[in-house]
Amino acid sequence: MEKEHGTAPIGTISPLSAKSDRPQEYYEQIKKKFAEERDLRLSYRPEGTAQYTSDLSGELAKYEIDPYGGEIKPREPINDTVECLFIGGGFSALLTSARLRECGVESIRIVERGADVGGTWYWNRYPGAACDVVAYDYLPLLDEMGYVPTRHYAQGPEIFGHCQAIARKYNLYELAVFQTTVTSTTWDEDEKMWNIGTDRGDRLKARFVICANGTLSKPKLSKISGMESFKGHSFHTSRWDYNYTKADLSGLADKVVGIIGTGASAVQAIPRLGAAAKELYVFQRTPSSIDIKDDWETDQKWAAKLHPGWQAKRRAEARREPELTEKQKAELAAMSPEEKVRRQENANINYMMRIHKRIEEIVEDKATAEALKPWYMFMCKRPCFDNYYLPTYNRPNVHLVDTHGKGITEITAKGPVFEGKQYEVDVLIYATGFEVQKTGIYNQIKGEHGLDLNDKYRDGIRTLLGIHTHGFPNLFIMGGYQASFQFNLTDMLQSQGDHIAACIDYTRRHGYDSIDVTPEAEEWWVQEVIEHRGKTTRNQDCTPGYYNFEGEFQRRQDGNYNGGFNRYCNHLDEVKAKMEAHFVFEKK
Ligand code: NDP
Repeated sequence: MEKEHGTAPIGTISPLSAKSDRPQEYYEQIKKKFAEERDLRLSYRPEGTAQYTSDLSGELAKYEIDPYGGEIKPREPINDTVECLFIGGGFSALLTSARLRECGVESIRIVERGADVGGTWYWNRYPGAACDVVAYDYLPLLDEMGYVPTRHYAQGPEIFGHCQAIARKYNLYELAVFQTTVTSTTWDEDEKMWNIGTDRGDRLKARFVICANGTLSKPKLSKISGMESFKGHSFHTSRWDYNYTKADLSGLADKVVGIIGTGASAVQAIPRLGAAAKELYVFQRTPSSIDIKDDWETDQKWAAKLHPGWQAKRRAEARREPELTEKQKAELAAMSPEEKVRRQENANINYMMRIHKRIEEIVEDKATAEALKPWYMFMCKRPCFDNYYLPTYNRPNVHLVDTHGKGITEITAKGPVFEGKQYEVDVLIYATGFEVQKTGIYNQIKGEHGLDLNDKYRDGIRTLLGIHTHGFPNLFIMGGYQASFQFNLTDMLQSQGDHIAACIDYTRRHGYDSIDVTPEAEEWWVQEVIEHRGKTTRNQDCTPGYYNFEGEFQRRQDGNYNGGFNRYCNHLDEVKAKMEAHFVFEKK
């Protein structure tokens, strides 16, 4: 039988799906436990995002060094002009470049810190790295590339290879500058050009600049007392040291390994570490929710039947709101807003209790199984999907060190300490994640009148669609705040890339040199973002994590647009249909 290759929507729980014979008291008890766990976590780390550092300098500089790119060879500084310059060479740059090429833009340069394109998939090469979004949806430009992924869920090397293939097809290597970090991006009002400085002494000029630096790019570390004193080997998951572990991890056979963190990266790496290491200690603060990952090799019979344009059609279908029957519509219409929230919460709790049951069924040691249970609503934290993670805890060499929400707060020369017990490890792996959604990482962006983007945002982020910000003409931001959030990030990035290419095309075709959003259009969007945020207390109710700024207070405009992806795409279309109403175009 042919496999079901359909798109599985993640993160949507309908109030219609709550079917339970349980009394409401059961759900209230669980919600109470969720709140207690959240309060406990917050009490240990009230400082919110400040508990982390992404300033990886001095003793910590080693955690950011690229282990994959080889020696950085000296080169002469570059001093020239291109039409479009991308800061970052991941999917944002690749899929937007493809659209720009289709509009006839010839002069495109990618400036990238790594030694190749690929972004996330260049950096994250830890064992087991793979994507949790169905590959036929996640890998962009499949129609254009004439490519069908080899598996239902693609693994890291295949995705990285796809990035390289896109760069080759669209001739993006020719002008690309690798192992180079953009440090300044300054608008020249007279020339209507951006001046771009780098850490290699380049002085680049570009008519259009696209901040394509990703949403989770800069590794961060938990601030743990004594971490600099650790005498063993250590690295961050996004800078995996295969020289030390060896490609097949055989270098760990006689090693005691510690890993701090149990987020999506750790969940994929831990099964491989458990199988390879002499001993593995997993230091957990908050457990992830782990569901089944239904993976298989692509059915070639299915692939052979695909018609050109199949991915575009599939993406359009995924965007459509699910069709409700007349009965379901009537049921929803009869529900009060409170009843909708209650039923949605109950359905969410039912899902999480199924996650708990799975743990009980798989993990043999009762105490370990209890410690692995996540006590929060689904989607409070990034959900994980993995078939090997939970069984790993049945291995005799794998030990869960549950810190009951406290986390590791002390590391000595020998390794982490928890509740007075020293865990001696040879190697310590930080799976502690990334700084979230900063527009100008490593880079100072200065627009009209020398205004620094960070200064503009100090009193709240201000953009149109998360892409344009007034006073910064010809600058486009991808994957930033005030844009929609999609579990399939490439869907969102493609919608932005299409929009940016259309804006640049319009500007060029009409003989303009610059495009800037009007203050009115920007204000409209800021209000739109505010209107859709904070409708529920869900963010505050969640256990802390990067989705809710570690429990910190946030101005309502300083986050994603919560009106839904469909509505976001409709707004993109509306803006494109009335360019002159939303932007000021100028000639030199
Ligand atoms: P995360 O930010 O998700 O996880 C960081 C982990 O470190 C958390 O478990 C956190 O605990 C833990 N932590 C932080 N400080 C301490 C401490 N002092 N002691 C113990 N634990 C600590 O980072 P990841 O790299 O795992 O994932 C980042 C994102 O990348 C994902 O959310 C996802 O969007 C993406 N990704 C996607 C993948 C996929 O498609 N499968 C795979 C990998 C990543 P706590 O939860 O308590 O904060």
